[in-house]
Amino acid sequence: MTEDAVGPGLPQDLPAASALGAFLHEPPPGTPAEVVEALTLMAGDPADPLPPRLFFESVEQAPVAISVTDAKANILYANAAFEALTGYDRAEVLGKNESILSSNATPESIYQQLWRTIQRKRPWTGTLINRRKGGADYLAELTISPVLDAAGRIRYFLGMHRDVTREHELTVALRQQKTRIETVLDAAPVVVVLLEADGRIILDNQEYKKLLGDLRGREPLALLRAALREQAGFDPLERAAAGQGFRDIEISLEVPGSIGPRWFACSGTAVNESDSSPSGFFIRGDAGDQRLLLLANDITARRREIERAHLENLRARLAEQQLAQGMREALTAASFQLQVPLNMIRAASSMFKDGSGNPALFADMLGQITRAGETALATLHAALPPEVPEPGVNVNINELLRHVLALETDNLLAAGVVVDWQPALVLPELSGHKNELRSLFKHLIDNALQALHEGGGSQRALRLATRALDDAVEVIVEDNGPGIPAELRIKVFEPFHIGWRNRRGRAGMGLALAQEIVNRHDGSIEIDTDYRDGCRVRVTLGNVPPH
Ligand code: FAD
Repeated sequence: MTEDAVGPGLPQDLPAASALGAFLHEPPPGTPAEVVEALTLMAGDPADPLPPRLFFESVEQAPVAISVTDAKANILYANAAFEALTGYDRAEVLGKNESILSSNATPESIYQQLWRTIQRKRPWTGTLINRRKGGADYLAELTISPVLDAAGRIRYFLGMHRDVTREHELTVALRQQKTRIETVLDAAPVVVVLLEADGRIILDNQEYKKLLGDLRGREPLALLRAALREQAGFDPLERAAAGQGFRDIEISLEVPGSIGPRWFACSGTAVNESDSSPSGFFIRGDAGDQRLLLLANDITARRREIERAHLENLRARLAEQQLAQGMREALTAASFQLQVPLNMIRAASSMFKDGSGNPALFADMLGQITRAGETALATLHAALPPEVPEPGVNVNINELLRHVLALETDNLLAAGVVVDWQPALVLPELSGHKNELRSLFKHLIDNALQALHEGGGSQRALRLATRALDDAVEVIVEDNGPGIPAELRIKVFEPFHIGWRNRRGRAGMGLALAQEIVNRHDGSIEIDTDYRDGCRVRVTLGNVPPH
């Protein structure tokens, strides 16, 4: 290119390729203004270090599918990523509408909203279901941006889209996972709540919400925390912050409208969730807060059952004490009442001894003695504690024996007795008087203990066994003490028979009463004559009429 062609005023070292610049510097007269405008755009500003071609190459090589359309969405340009993603060659799509990518599965309303937005000269971003040339559908996250001319009219649209199918699959999988977890949590019959380090609730389950309702809107978490602090001496969140958990700590809550407190067994697990904030992006490991997963299992029914059993036990002990007290009173009254006829008998016998008594006086004295004796007997009868009739209820003899054994545990341990407990695996329930049966077996075990003690052997063993008979139950109470001599095996059931060396606290009434209880249960009690290694008591029990 000659210097003339470059024209005056232009730098001499301008490259030949910049002839366009020279042309534009002084366009030939008559060149249409649109041509000058277009060429000016193409040439760019020679002082600008970024050539216009750079922008084209940037778009062409961008890893996002980019297309430029006219105002009706007919494709004018598509980049390499567009070809790669859609499967179409540029030549196939140029001049075609973008609808070539539609799978016909995107709702019509989305397109209407898309067009309404871009025609108002605003960018639109949304998700469409596109179809590749090969036929496979993919989810396209699309942004369309209107390109305006100098007069502000829409001339082109710039479209950019990427495949977000995988992200969508992950989102759906995450949602499904969340739904599954929520379903499991809601079905669990335990209060579950996940807490931030500052105590805010991240997640709770149906049981938690139910408790919220039971507490008439008072936040269960605050009450559980306060109860753990007051009743167990620690704050669950502080524990979690230190990375520690806890298990089955039992606490009680006062719940309006419920009889007595509600009991919960609380467990806590420190949960370390990784930091989801931008600053935690590159940090792996435990940069997040310590959260607390708190579980509270309602154990009220179990606690009430334990309390009920405890109360029943207390009641039985109280009844026993009252009975013993009543007996003591009756016996005191008896010894007092017997004093009067005894004194009279003494006086009468001394009169006879010294020969001063005459038969008429003696007959009168005998009459007085008889009356005093009858009065004493009547008073004694009146002082006897009343017999409280007990209703017949269903009794599981295995369970009843287990309770009696549990009550006797301390005595058995202190005496160094090894208990061999052999319950029948299946035992029919009997209709019986619970308290009577309890005292029957307690008495037999107490006897066995005393026998073992008096026998003095070093290997002390007590065997308890049950067996189902036709419409009855058999119980064996066996000890390896000195046993009962054959000639006494009937006599021991007589009232006031005492065969112990140590008679303290013994009235000789235990086996007599046991016999009565067994009779009332349509059963039998006997000392096994064949057993030679100690004493074996065999009890059979039938049914009493219920109520
Ligand atoms: P059509 O009958 O073409 O249109 C459906 C509805 O869209 C109509 O009822 C109407 O409400 C609205 N609409 C369509 N054309 C116009 C218009 N010119 N003016 C006003 N409203 C109109 N679609 C895709 O499915 N996938 C893509 O990846 C995609 N990329 C696009 C990129 C750009 C830059 C632009 C501008 C559009 C793009 N579209 C894309 C939209 C596409 O042009 C179609 O509108 C769409 O595919 C629906 O086509 P159709 O043949 O099913 O229905």
